[in-house]
Amino acid sequence: MISIRNLSKTYGDAEGGHRALDDVTLDIGRGDIFGILGSSGAGKSTLVRCINLLETPTSGTISIDGVDVTGYAGRDLARLRGSVGMIFQNFSLFQQRTVLRNVTFPLELVGMPKPERDRRALELLDVVGLSGLSERYPSQLSGGQQQRVAIARALANRAKIMLCDEATSALDTKTTVSILELLRKINREMGVTIVIITHALTVAESVCNRIAVIDGGRIVEQGTTEELFANP
Ligand code: ADP
Ligand code: ADP
Repeated sequence: MISIRNLSKTYGDAEGGHRALDDVTLDIGRGDIFGILGSSGAGKSTLVRCINLLETPTSGTISIDGVDVTGYAGRDLARLRGSVGMIFQNFSLFQQRTVLRNVTFPLELVGMPKPERDRRALELLDVVGLSGLSERYPSQLSGGQQQRVAIARALANRAKIMLCDEATSALDTKTTVSILELLRKINREMGVTIVIITHALTVAESVCNRIAVIDGGRIVEQGTTEELFANP
């Protein structure tokens, strides 16, 4: 579904610049919960930002469903961003908007009429287990609840891919387990392909079916979770 070929990214000029990604080749299949595991500075965020075209690769290509999206701009880019949801460590919710209006935000951007976007947002809030909290503000929610709002918002445009950048790093163990359980449900029941960027081995091992380990901008190991964690 996502095919990454020989992707490199150098920040600054090519001579004195810093090579954050070095010849990365990866295939993320439809229906995968794919883990990208690496320590701080390994290049994980740069890789997801390239997938979302928030960052322009220095060389290499990214294809989604067989279409090279690397040079996308304008309307194509906007459509791609809608089909790829993203969540972050700090939730990135709009503090001045209610839970409902956080989830409807991406639908407002595409001009969906209010009754329809409210209906869809309420459905999604039900999926993520927040029925009844739609009129609260983010500051009135726990961290786990805020991440659930962010997940609902990421799915609002019927995303088929969800990128999770250290999405559980700010949460305690119990809350982390419940958020990973929710991601598993979304993958299973809504057919969303999920990419989990994490420095936490336990997170990758507990929820991902495939894992790529990244170090110094290079993929140093990849395979199924069973292969990677098998005892020799
Ligand atoms: P990770 O997400 O694994 O912590 P990043 O992708 O954020 O890693 O960073 C990879 C490397 O690229 C790091 O050495 C980081 O300092 C560098 N880097 C990241 N973003 C920038 C930037 N905008 N300008 C210059 N260097 C950057
Ligand atoms: P979690 O670890 O699940 O994120 P917290 O320890 O942050 O939960 O919060 C525990 C409970 O307190 C939650 O049910 C949440 O709704 C409530 N809560 C947390 N922060 C606030 C807040 N700022 N205002 C009102 N209720 C809050």
